[in-house]
Amino acid sequence: MIIICETKATETQIKSIQKVIEDSGLKVHRSDGAEHTVLGVVGDRSRLDIGAFSLMPGVRNVVPVSSPFKLASREFHPEDTTVPVGDTVVVGGPEVIVMAGPCAVEGREMIEASASLAAHCGARVLRGGAFKPRSSPYSYQGLGVEGLKMLRAAADGNGLAVVSEVMTIEQIDIVGQYADLLQVGARNMQNYPLLTALGKAGKPVLLKRGISATIQEWLMSAEYILSSGNPDVILCERGIRTFETATRNTLDLSAVPVIKSLSHLPIIVDPSHGVGNRRFVVPMARAAVAAGADGILVEIHPDPEKALSDGPQSLTFEEFEGLMNRCRIIGTTIGRRLGKGR
Ligand code: PEP
Ligand code: MN
Repeated sequence: MIIICETKATETQIKSIQKVIEDSGLKVHRSDGAEHTVLGVVGDRSRLDIGAFSLMPGVRNVVPVSSPFKLASREFHPEDTTVPVGDTVVVGGPEVIVMAGPCAVEGREMIEASASLAAHCGARVLRGGAFKPRSSPYSYQGLGVEGLKMLRAAADGNGLAVVSEVMTIEQIDIVGQYADLLQVGARNMQNYPLLTALGKAGKPVLLKRGISATIQEWLMSAEYILSSGNPDVILCERGIRTFETATRNTLDLSAVPVIKSLSHLPIIVDPSHGVGNRRFVVPMARAAVAAGADGILVEIHPDPEKALSDGPQSLTFEEFEGLMNRCRIIGTTIGRRLGKGR
């Protein structure tokens, strides 16, 4: 249930509405919009006398929320949410935020070269896995903390923010020391204890869509993070498993407008894991920008043939530069912009 307050509701009125709800043993999440304050009520509604409650001063409307995700729903928060990442990046605003970097940090030189190229082309966030969720235990697992240090140094040297994956609750602190944005990988989208812990992480979260997750399941996972106290969630479409085998996954670009209609959370698209083949990454990245994504996450590598993970889908520096030029034109056409390169 959500409570829409009167435009002119006073702070005292809002506080007393909140108190009545809390005294009934329910949880309140407050969202101050441009026009109204909206209170999201989570818990057993039968404990509230809704009739009496609707008459309280300052209450304009009491709306039952039909979707199972409440805090993630557009009803709760009609305006688009913007999520700050680091000191200078905002996801969900007019700028299409490009996050680029290798699948995994493999060493100092390659991450610095990637950061320098990314910044030169107008990307704002450097990506790179230090703890890698590999399908095989024999595959490259990442450099761990050493990788995080290299990633941070390369980003700082080039004015970029950092996104990196956390696979376990124990990794949240250490990844949070080096990254501005904590990535939850597709395989962990339904790791509910991890999501709950991220609700208290004090850093924004990039929540990738699960390999076989419906949009509703994905938003329910976002709900775990939001309801645990973290309002800064960015969704990332990265392809889902279908019967099709020509691409690594099936990139569901329709998720972009669907999420925009169901939720206020920003959504970015990862065409690299979506298609798994660099030949198809460029057109799908362009399509993601055209579809209204708030950003793209693209894997690049100085020498993709030698990459320790996801080489076949990593763009060469030259391909990435070409992609950025194209995306800049598409962004302008739809009234958005990309970061200025250096
Ligand atoms: C990644 O971004 O490197 C990654 C492993 O992605 P996903 O969780 O989407 O497979
Ligand atoms: Mn990868």
